[in-house]
Amino acid sequence: MAFTVAIDGPAASGKGTISRAVAQRFGFRHLDTGLLYRATGRRVLNGEDAVAAATALMPDDLQTDGLRSADVAEAASKVAAIPEVRAALVAFQRRFARLGDGAVLDGRDIGTVICPEAEVKLFVTASAEVRAARRHAEFDDDTTLEEVLADVKRRDERDAGRADAPMRAAEDAIRIDTTEMSIAEAVAAAEGAVAAVWSGG
Ligand code: C5P
Repeated sequence: MAFTVAIDGPAASGKGTISRAVAQRFGFRHLDTGLLYRATGRRVLNGEDAVAAATALMPDDLQTDGLRSADVAEAASKVAAIPEVRAALVAFQRRFARLGDGAVLDGRDIGTVICPEAEVKLFVTASAEVRAARRHAEFDDDTTLEEVLADVKRRDERDAGRADAPMRAAEDAIRIDTTEMSIAEAVAAAEGAVAAVWSGG
């Protein structure tokens, strides 16, 4: 039986770190679904049409360098508001979720739209200020903290405000607010939530 862990939340909330740790601890495969939108956004920055780019996406596109840049993140959140782009990426995500014994998918709409039947749903949040500070610490250019905070807030608004599959917690999601948590504490909270449901594979 496939077991799915859906982990949603805004940028830099800690959901990526938590997802990788949960996948490793339980031996599940992991898909960072943001990479699908980033790879699509990257192709659009290179001049392609957004829907054509999403439809033609290949696994190799997820491995390319530069997907973590601020420009690509901005392009990703714009293409993510186009319903046809989202529709083109649904089947891949659902297949990934049900292939093998267990899978962790992280994103914005996993518990609400992609895998509403997921066995465990987590919604990981943190204040915008703390998330911006975390992102800022990862950058080695001269971007200011204020610029990163403005980017984070703009992307939150676009992701939560779009009509199709907006970012929000599923009703049955467990919320983990990492604002005042260490990485180890956040990972332990998530692992505890999964362990309470997972009985082994
Ligand atoms: O998680 P990450 O920051 O890599 O995601 C980049 C963008 O992709 C997000 O801002 C969001 O607009 C979009 N996204 C989405 N649905 C997902 C994952 C990401 O709309 N499941």
